[in-house]
Amino acid sequence: MNGFFGQFGGAFVAETLIRNLEELEHEYERIKEDAAFRNEVAAILKHFVGRPTPLTPLHRIPSKLGGAKLYLKREDLTHTGAHKINNALAQALLARKIGKRRIVAETGAGQHGVAVATVCSLLGIECVVYMGAVDAARQAPNVQRMKLLGADLRLVHAGQQTLKDAIGEAIRDWITNVHDTHYLLGSAVGPHPFPKIVADFQSIIGEEAREQIWEAEGRSPDYVVACVGGGSNAIGIFNGFIDDPDVKLIGVQAAGEGIESSKHAAPLVKGSLGIVQGSFTYMLQDAYGQILETHSIAPGLDYPGVGPQHSYLKDSGRVEYTSINDREALKAFEYLCRTEGILPALESSHAVAYALKLAPTLSEDKIVLVNLSGRGDKDMNQAMEGLERLAQLEQLELEGVTV
Ligand SMILES: *Cc1c(COP(=O)(O)O)cnc(C)c1O
Repeated sequence: MNGFFGQFGGAFVAETLIRNLEELEHEYERIKEDAAFRNEVAAILKHFVGRPTPLTPLHRIPSKLGGAKLYLKREDLTHTGAHKINNALAQALLARKIGKRRIVAETGAGQHGVAVATVCSLLGIECVVYMGAVDAARQAPNVQRMKLLGADLRLVHAGQQTLKDAIGEAIRDWITNVHDTHYLLGSAVGPHPFPKIVADFQSIIGEEAREQIWEAEGRSPDYVVACVGGGSNAIGIFNGFIDDPDVKLIGVQAAGEGIESSKHAAPLVKGSLGIVQGSFTYMLQDAYGQILETHSIAPGLDYPGVGPQHSYLKDSGRVEYTSINDREALKAFEYLCRTEGILPALESSHAVAYALKLAPTLSEDKIVLVNLSGRGDKDMNQAMEGLERLAQLEQLELEGVTV
């Protein structure tokens, strides 16, 4: 069925939205193969975003831990510091091609908002970003960035004043102004055709990584590891290897304070089936179908749903989904900083943490490729606080106090 991955996906939205989604799908299918459009995306990715991003072999960690060779795909080195810009740029160019002169988006932690504000500034497109007032108070530097970049930042005071409420406002705006407005969704989530569009635009990560690893090693890696929030960086790198049955694909979700606690964000590990953001997928919900609160130290992983394609890939068995908790992610963050001179985003640290556990169990001729989805500058305060708390906790544990 169109718009589904097996039983997952679809467009479970209000009638008023269906026409917008159909128009977007129609225009996307028409434009995506257009040579002028593809060339424009490629040129800006090269000259502005800084693609191709490098593939970095790690030297010190494998020599300390033993086991497999490790490579990082360096999305942290893109302009604005994360993979989100790949999708924001291509969707903004698509919007302009369709004749929209205005873009609306919502943002939680502000990362997607910054990427959208950046490309709108570059392309001279009017940009409106909705953000929950509570989120905005927690993310002052991103609020400042969006304002400097010229975005019209609209704080949402309804409901919990977080991402869910911002999504509601952005969609209301889109329905009202669809004649000249594109809704720019930031991950491979939401109703059809967004999961497909975002996956297509992020597949550049996997295309490059495949070429680079073949150049370096003459073969595909044995494992590809990526963190999964909504799932866009993961599907982007997986798509480079998904038709290669010998490559094991691993998606890492956030176990927060523990996968057995109620404070995590791992619907692919502990979720059940339901509809979230217009899409049938694994999600975290209570017995009455109410969306549960999630927790992760990484703001980009703190989401109760997941892109429908990942739900499909889980059930089909092609991808294995697992989880890493806050503590393990912090440790990996610190280890990569100290040992390889790279400051990873806390989201990406989840993938790194899994790779650090996996690599020593493998033989030296194995290759593990990790998608480093973003850089950690944005996470500095949280990481420092988290590491201090961890040090105190470990001291208490040493002294035999149970906490
Ligand atoms: C937003 C974000 C993520 C999570 O989003 P996906 O759509 O799952 O990729 C991961 N890493 C970084 C650095 C992010 O900013």
